[in-house]
Amino acid sequence: MALTGLDIFKLLPKTNCGECGVPTCMAFAMKLAAKNAELAACPYASEEAKAKIGAASKPPIRLVKIGPPGAEVAVGHETVMFRHEKTFVHPTAIAVSFSDGQPASELCHLTAQVREYCLERVGEQLRLDLALVENTSGGVRPFVEAVKAVAGGTGRGLILMSESPEALEAALKILDGQRPLIHAATPENAERLGKLALQYKAPLVARAATLDALAALTSRLAAMGVRDLVLELPAENPASAVQHNTVIRKMALKSAFEPLGYPILNVVAGRDLPSLVADASTLILKYASILVVDTLQVQALLPLMMLRQNIYTDPQKPIQVEPKVYPIGEPGRNAPVLVTTNFSLTYFLVSGEIENSGVPAHLGVVECEGMSVLTAWAAGKFSGAKVGAFVKASGLEGQVATRRIIIPGYVAQISGELEESLPGWEVVVGPQEASDLGSFLKLQAAA
Ligand code: SF4
Repeated sequence: MALTGLDIFKLLPKTNCGECGVPTCMAFAMKLAAKNAELAACPYASEEAKAKIGAASKPPIRLVKIGPPGAEVAVGHETVMFRHEKTFVHPTAIAVSFSDGQPASELCHLTAQVREYCLERVGEQLRLDLALVENTSGGVRPFVEAVKAVAGGTGRGLILMSESPEALEAALKILDGQRPLIHAATPENAERLGKLALQYKAPLVARAATLDALAALTSRLAAMGVRDLVLELPAENPASAVQHNTVIRKMALKSAFEPLGYPILNVVAGRDLPSLVADASTLILKYASILVVDTLQVQALLPLMMLRQNIYTDPQKPIQVEPKVYPIGEPGRNAPVLVTTNFSLTYFLVSGEIENSGVPAHLGVVECEGMSVLTAWAAGKFSGAKVGAFVKASGLEGQVATRRIIIPGYVAQISGELEESLPGWEVVVGPQEASDLGSFLKLQAAA
């Protein structure tokens, strides 16, 4: 039977020392119950606790970290089949593939694109996570040179793909301490690559042709002490890939089948752009922990980045921006003052419309737990009193000469209370829709 947070708490030392990374034993117990932590993080757990909690709290999918300090990518630790059950935790790491057959000048140019790629969306910076280097030449030296170029050029963690243990070892030597992902142990070379993974403290891809063979392979590697594994099960077509991923996830979560309790790697390459986007999108939705693509075209990266962000946003935690006063344009002391909530989408819509209007303004963003305007008002978090308190606490009254404040049209009903909270201020009811803000501000400016 699954242990509750309280059951687990009773078995912990209750000293609240914080060494497990959370401030209290109760908080740690809740994380264990949610399978978001491992008991090994508490150095003071008793033998009794280890026996009773250990297996019950172990995350069903192992957390695997790839890449050097500062550019480390974590995958795994997922606990649900469907995002609406709770949340997906570690976003699919998107990797771009390179080959040691590419000329140095091309590697230089393309790796710089990986390093610099950044999509800004609702306050987040979305970037490429990893780079794969394939040993297509079969030689040790070209592989090592390409690995150096890609590691230096991208600044990302690497996936080292080679059928030659000698080439892999030579690359691992120059990347010592950078935790590249070794690709790949198979039933034929498991001992040799397992030893390399242990020697260089690097995670390892386990690759086999069937689910049974894959489970047997990971069991062999785990028996050697290789714990940081990533699964790869080659598929004949995208439908098979989704089926494999789903079975692996189900076996790990629903049956607690440890040999398949690892993150999954999928490669989507060698196809036209629409097929690549369609297949890669499907695999982001269905359990790819690492997705390797062979393109840097923005038409492919843009939808994949946006989809990934949407899927891996916690539905229970709205994306928020920091509550404060934001200058839009270069507003002077007489520029208009507007207020809204700190729901990220609301902020970006409103600030975008103000910017497009060409009328510089001060935008006050009130702490509303990330709720939109109407939801926050209904929850009592965007009342006249709260907005008034925000204006006073923010120091806005000292920054501006104007004493007019524009509130969203949907909450016209707070205007009376706000005027009471802000003596000397005139409250102006703005438009309901952000899209009407531009014309509204221009009219106000002309009046
Ligand atoms: Fe409690 Fe152990 Fe965490 Fe310390 S490390 S707070 S004793 S659970």
